[in-house]
Amino acid sequence: MIAAALALLTLIFRQMRRAPAALPRARRPRPDKAVFVIWAGDESDASPIATRTAQSLRSAGVASRLVAITDLSDRAFHFASALLFVISSRDGQQDIDEAEFFLQRELPAIAGLPYAVLSLTNLLPDPKEDYGSRLDRRLRLLGAMPLSDSIEAVKGDAAVIRRWQQILPLVGGSRDEADWAAPDYTPWRMISRERINSGSDGSPIFHIRLESEEDLPHWEAGAIVEIYPGPAEDAIGTIGRPPLPHRQYSIASLPADGGIEMVVRERHTATGQLGLGSSWMCEMAQPGQRIALRLRENPGFAAPPDEIPMILIGNGSGIAGLRAHIKARPAGTRNWLIFGERNSAHDCLMGSEIAHWVATGHLERCDLIFSRDGPEKRYVCHHIAENEGSFLDWVLADAAIFVCGNLHGMATDVDTELSRILGRDVLDAMIADGRYRRDVY
Ligand SMILES: Cc1cc2nc3c(=O)[nH]c(=O)nc-3n(C[C@H](O)[C@H](O)[C@H](O)COP(=O)(O)OP(=O)(O)OC[C@H]3O[C@@H](n4cnc5c(N)ncnc54)[C@H](O)[C@@H]3O)c2cc1C
Repeated sequence: MIAAALALLTLIFRQMRRAPAALPRARRPRPDKAVFVIWAGDESDASPIATRTAQSLRSAGVASRLVAITDLSDRAFHFASALLFVISSRDGQQDIDEAEFFLQRELPAIAGLPYAVLSLTNLLPDPKEDYGSRLDRRLRLLGAMPLSDSIEAVKGDAAVIRRWQQILPLVGGSRDEADWAAPDYTPWRMISRERINSGSDGSPIFHIRLESEEDLPHWEAGAIVEIYPGPAEDAIGTIGRPPLPHRQYSIASLPADGGIEMVVRERHTATGQLGLGSSWMCEMAQPGQRIALRLRENPGFAAPPDEIPMILIGNGSGIAGLRAHIKARPAGTRNWLIFGERNSAHDCLMGSEIAHWVATGHLERCDLIFSRDGPEKRYVCHHIAENEGSFLDWVLADAAIFVCGNLHGMATDVDTELSRILGRDVLDAMIADGRYRRDVY
């Protein structure tokens, strides 16, 4: 009780100190420009979320313009600092004929512009055909910069809308705004927390284990947890919205492990304070502490069938999502891990487990790339380039590529490299077939 009260006080104090530097790493909008929040399709679905998006940005001090896709003139793009699309259609294709022309336009001023697409549908959309995916492909082709992979919310799934809300800080929105729709949290307990990169010159990374206070729910490899970054009592059973926004983490374990395991890296703001989620999970909450969380399945990072070989690529805390997949693969499957960190001496995350997987043949191939071991920095993307031949062999054997970890840096560079090796069309086809999946942040 005392520990929880102290934790709450520290949290409030930290929030107060954080306030002046609310948008440290955010893309600061130019004063003459605005974030365009563009809606299309079924007005009753798209418009309220688009309106909420624009309001949320405005309340963080970011100029934003709410506009229907049909009202967007070519000239308007010169005044956009980013484009956030909220698209609604019944099955991913219908009801948006009026927006179709947008896909045909030249849009010369769009290169380099950050964008994100939220697609609201009633059915799980077909990634080859649905409007959101086609719009996403078109924007990439025109050179616009994706802030995330395209986000699909079936039947207004509140968890997906929360993911959308977490895009807003990337264009200047607040990281600390309470969730628009609070997760349905359940009580868990932190059982252990161990630093797994002691001595590293990078930020500390912890392996954390939580166990449920209720029956253990089921989840599949690739699932995510939404963690309430404060005392569980503030989030569970309270009337109204809990005051803090959730943070998401990839689950590094399977139900067979009896609990949720996570790999969390401490993240600091520009002024040196620890971030909301990582300070709660890595510093303030202690083993024994109650943790409020919600499990979220993540179909966009679901495993391929066992007969499909898997190339698992990642860095840093991205080992979490990859680990769950490796654990879930039965004996006899073909798995290739390509994983990067800084120095072999301190940053060999989950090293003994990886060595065991190699020894037992569970990993047919394992390449650990330590960027700072040699005189020149070498990253995962360089390793892929140097092993282009084997990479092509695996892809020709129908392998699926799974990427987990940093979007900026690792995942973007890997995407560029894959695009060079395989060609953008092949990569797009692999995305549509679920053979190129990413869990990146
Ligand atoms: C699907 C998904 C899965 C994730 N899985 C993991 C995981 O397994 N392990 C893990 O450690 N983290 C994971 N994250 C990131 C995690 O959700 C938090 O964003 C992270 O812990 C930082 O949150 P914070 O509250 O500590 O920092 P904040 O208070 O949000 O911010 C602190 C500082 O970090 C910067 N920052 C925050 N997030 C990002 C980002 N994505 N890119 C660049 N700068 C950023 C902010 O601008 C700020 O300067 C995942 C994110 C997503 C979306």
